[in-house]
Amino acid sequence: MGEIYDVIILGAGPAGLAAGLYAGRSRLSALIIEKGQDGGQIAVSDEIENYPGQKVEGESGASLIARMTEQTERFGTKRVTDTITEVVLEGEIKVLRSARAEYQAKNVIIATGAHPRPIECKGEAEYIGKGVSYCATCDANFFEDLEVYVVGGGDSAVEEAMYLTKFARKVTLIHRRNELRAAKSIQEKAFKNPKLEFMWDTIVEELGGDEILSEMTVKNVKTGETTRIVADEEDGLFGLFGFVGTLPNSKLFEGIIDMDERGYIRTDEDMHTNIPGVYAAGDVRIKSLRQVVTAVADGAIAAVQVERSMQG
Ligand code: NAP
Repeated sequence: MGEIYDVIILGAGPAGLAAGLYAGRSRLSALIIEKGQDGGQIAVSDEIENYPGQKVEGESGASLIARMTEQTERFGTKRVTDTITEVVLEGEIKVLRSARAEYQAKNVIIATGAHPRPIECKGEAEYIGKGVSYCATCDANFFEDLEVYVVGGGDSAVEEAMYLTKFARKVTLIHRRNELRAAKSIQEKAFKNPKLEFMWDTIVEELGGDEILSEMTVKNVKTGETTRIVADEEDGLFGLFGFVGTLPNSKLFEGIIDMDERGYIRTDEDMHTNIPGVYAAGDVRIKSLRQVVTAVADGAIAAVQVERSMQG
């Protein structure tokens, strides 16, 4: 039989890495299981300016995460790349299975994060990778000197729209209201950006184009008026980036762990879920502020709770 860890942490985003750091420092035997790259959503963020104590101004998410990973490794927490497809969480020993391995632990911290919510316009799925994207850092360079539209009015939409202005000829932010949700400091920068325009009270209804995205219909929600936007003839396409919030990565736990109707995991303030020995931390849980700073705090709290529970 393989090792029974004190704690297995699912996900190596800020919450998972912080949990790993605290668990390692407490001399717990800890394993982080991550299916992809470390960092989760923040790894594709171009610039972070609100993480307390950040050393480098305008540091990218990837750079911050690289330092977090290094720090977590220093305390002995192990990490594997694997995709868990089945969990048995009731009972003293929790079992997590992937296609190639079985992992066991006395405690589990779920830090699986969240993913971008679709815009939910007609034709969206058809044009993913053919004009539609949810990651500016990944895809901005495909739209060098082209026109780009960004949907959303939160921090992500506004920050990513500004990033896209470094590549695109023009960026238009389409928001369903006439006021942004983004932090005021982010808004101030955005309103000063000469390459950024705003289309207020507007939603995207339908996408079209021959193989690649080259037209879309938008609707003014106040007047009901619809407008057809067509790519410049010389360009032949435009980009559409969706930043309309996120959905939790919690499907694996459906029917097992208490969640709200959208799938966010319910915890108490010490990150306990309804199952003893199972904790949730970071964006995957119900909370009012989803930021790196709150994710790392959740991870730390969860790991300390594990340690305390093991002291008997
Ligand atoms: P968010 O804050 O939930 O904002 C989502 C935006 O999308 C809102 O403006 C919302 O409009 C709009 N929206 C939602 N559903 C829509 C739909 N179906 N069609 C059109 N528009 C729709 O999401 P987020 O910007 O991704 O941010 C997520 C979390 O990460 C937040 O807590 C945010 O503060 C944090 N974050 C922080 C930073 C930073 O601090 N630098 C950067 C990125 C993200 P309404 O405004 O009308 O609701």
